[in-house]
Amino acid sequence: MIPTEVLEQARAELLDWHRGMSVLETSHRDKAFIAMTEAVTDKVRTLLAVPDNYRVLFMQGGASLQFAAAPLNLLGDKSAMDYVYTGLWGKKAILDAKRYGEVRIAYSAESNQFTSIEPVEQWALNEAAAYLHYTPNETVHGVEFHEIPEVGAVPLVGDFSSTILSRPLDVSKHALIYAGAQKNIGPSGLTMVIVDEQYLGHALDICPAYLNYQNIANSHSLYNTPPTFSFYLIDLVLDWLEKQGGVAAIEDVNKRKSAKLYECLDQSDFFSNPVVPKYRSRMNVPFFLADASQEARFLEQAEANGLMNLAGHRALGGMRASIYNSMPEEGVDALCAFMTEFERRL
Ligand SMILES: *Cc1c(COP(=O)(O)O)cnc(C)c1O
Repeated sequence: MIPTEVLEQARAELLDWHRGMSVLETSHRDKAFIAMTEAVTDKVRTLLAVPDNYRVLFMQGGASLQFAAAPLNLLGDKSAMDYVYTGLWGKKAILDAKRYGEVRIAYSAESNQFTSIEPVEQWALNEAAAYLHYTPNETVHGVEFHEIPEVGAVPLVGDFSSTILSRPLDVSKHALIYAGAQKNIGPSGLTMVIVDEQYLGHALDICPAYLNYQNIANSHSLYNTPPTFSFYLIDLVLDWLEKQGGVAAIEDVNKRKSAKLYECLDQSDFFSNPVVPKYRSRMNVPFFLADASQEARFLEQAEANGLMNLAGHRALGGMRASIYNSMPEEGVDALCAFMTEFERRL
């Protein structure tokens, strides 16, 4: 979801954003546009308390292209990388990283079907790794780290796509953070990258110019033409988030929303979530029906009640409720009420 007040403001400004032009018609070299992109960067810095020695960048290609950008920029003269495999997105990151060096799996949750995460003491860490990559929130499996893993001196890289801005985050514990915008930052089209300055300027020779963080940093994220409307809408979403009280305040809301939904699942005999409570995601809640033959009926009736997009990811099946920042608490209440009624009428 995008907050309704954001969409309303975008609608009101669509024909005249600046000097009689729509933002869709504005050049990315326009002074007002450049000022807006700088404001976006500043707002991210404030919301996430980004330390001065980090750069906040916006790129295209989604989080998926960062699966390659991370090794291309951070591998340097090392050859080994550590990856933590806690769900589907981690797997994709691993497959791309393998093209550039030796990937070791420091920990895999495959044996528990991605329903839990063993403590870091039980991971097989490689001190010679260029970095350790993890997925703080596995969007498909609904598994979230509620603490940043302490991996010692090895630089930490996180794919924060589905949890960024949902809670406060200690940026300083990471060398690199990246996140596709379309879950919690705004619409699709941009990917946010927060990188420790010391990792700029060491990209491999084979790194395409566009994927080289140094180039993006030098050009203030305007190395080439960005999706201008996405930038604009992100600006509005960040204003909205600030108005909600920032990430600490939205974390309280997200805790409440997810606790309500898990409670509704746990007290039901018909619906269930397989993830160990300590690692349950606050953003993506997969759930299953005891009788899978009822799935189509569940989805159809849910839609008739205005509850959209509840089908699970095609890799996992079942259902999934994504309750990102912009999903109001009433949305979760409505889902719980619908589920209770669906079960009662079986
Ligand atoms: C959605 C998602 C991706 C893929 O994002 P794109 O921007 O579509 O490439 C990668 N990682 C995680 C954790 C995601 O949730």
